Amino acid sequence: MRTTVGIIGAGPAGLLLARLLHNAGIDSVVLESRDRAYVEHRQRAGILEQGTVDVLRAAGAGKRMDREGLPHDGIELRFDRRRHRVDFPALTGGRSVMVYAQTEVCKDLIALQLKEGGPLLFEAEALAVEGAETDRPTIRFRHEGREDVLECDYVVGCDGFWGVARKAIPASVSQTFERTYPFGWLGILADVPPSHDELIYARHDRGFALLSMRSPSVSRLYLQVPVDTDAESWSDERIWDELERRFETDDDWTLQRGPITQKSVTPMRSYVHEPMRHGRLFLAGDAAHIVPPTGAKGLNLAVGDVVTFVRALVHRRETGSAELLDAYSANCLRRVWQAERFSYDMTAMLHRDPDATPFDRRVQLARLDRISSCRAAETDLALGYTGFPLD
Ligand SMILES: Cc1cc2nc3c(=O)[nH]c(=O)nc-3n(C[C@H](O)[C@H](O)[C@H](O)COP(=O)(O)OP(=O)(O)OC[C@H]3O[C@@H](n4cnc5c(N)ncnc54)[C@H](O)[C@@H]3O)c2cc1C
Repeated sequence: MRTTVGIIGAGPAGLLLARLLHNAGIDSVVLESRDRAYVEHRQRAGILEQGTVDVLRAAGAGKRMDREGLPHDGIELRFDRRRHRVDFPALTGGRSVMVYAQTEVCKDLIALQLKEGGPLLFEAEALAVEGAETDRPTIRFRHEGREDVLECDYVVGCDGFWGVARKAIPASVSQTFERTYPFGWLGILADVPPSHDELIYARHDRGFALLSMRSPSVSRLYLQVPVDTDAESWSDERIWDELERRFETDDDWTLQRGPITQKSVTPMRSYVHEPMRHGRLFLAGDAAHIVPPTGAKGLNLAVGDVVTFVRALVHRRETGSAELLDAYSANCLRRVWQAERFSYDMTAMLHRDPDATPFDRRVQLARLDRISSCRAAETDLALGYTGFPLD
């Protein structure tokens, strides 16, 4: 098999990349190790930045998102039994976000790819990327019980944190930057209308809590828990009781309970691999960087990476110049590090660190107080949340 761009992974990064390449008239093949149902039902991100929404629309993948997604103009910060709303359009000159689940983004992109795009092979596991330094890199992969080779002009590793692409970059040129956190998120899906029409980020002495949603009838909620927590050790009643305590306010706000249909624990990690390119191998999305989900940045960063790659490849085709391909890693990393910083700041401001002193806890509250009383501080949060520009 031969193609211009070999793509490993059919998460949001790989699927959107294939769509953007198709629209630009560049052929690609996507290899995905899991089956279609698995990719379409893996519960993860849910917040799309303004820029991501714009890219999906321009790619012809925004129709159902515009029908079923929930545009959000703000978030609520909750601390010290107080509530403070951050109004995004007022602070950012009109920017906002969209609540539309990653599962739905993937379903839309898969349907488009299978109907109009190049090959998308499920249950096709990439085993290794070879010849990244040459003009003809290859992907060795296993599909339908036999090994095959995909010859490419370029390979893009969109295979997430545990994928194989990153391993093809020699240790001598790799640098990694990492931080792990001593807590994770216990996430639930519940068949109950959201108790608030915008997301609530709650800082509480017992730990962080987040109220989010997937649709007008499905709530998504999270609780900070110790990193080694077994989700099944938390009964439904205990989860609702703990959420109620962490969201407590001085007014009459109440949390609606309902049947929990799914629970799982997600560890938190910050990670960046530099560079994001080696020869003709490019990394995009979680294959190159991970952020803790507090900033809702992971999927949005993946979108930024693949847009940057496609622009660079089109520039190469139109001008013959490889300057943007050469600048791919540096251009992506500027935005990546802003998202890393933002996600780290949000995590530190809202979570209970087991080693925090009473002094640290007062500083957390002072930060939140500053955001709720100083327009410049609030604007900085709103600009970060709605997204860092692609250029
Ligand atoms: C609980 C949770 C909540 C989150 N919330 C948010 C949020 O609110 N907002 C946000 O922006 N982000 C959020 N994220 C992060 C977001 O989900 C990820 O950043 C996003 O999935 C990255 O997309 P990706 O395509 O780079 O990687 P992935 O989605 O991980 O996709 C990689 C794909 O590659 C495939 N693959 C792996 N190895 C191989 C191989 N060898 N061969 C072939 N295929 C392979 C995998 O099966 C997978 O389908 C959240 C993540 C989690 C876990």
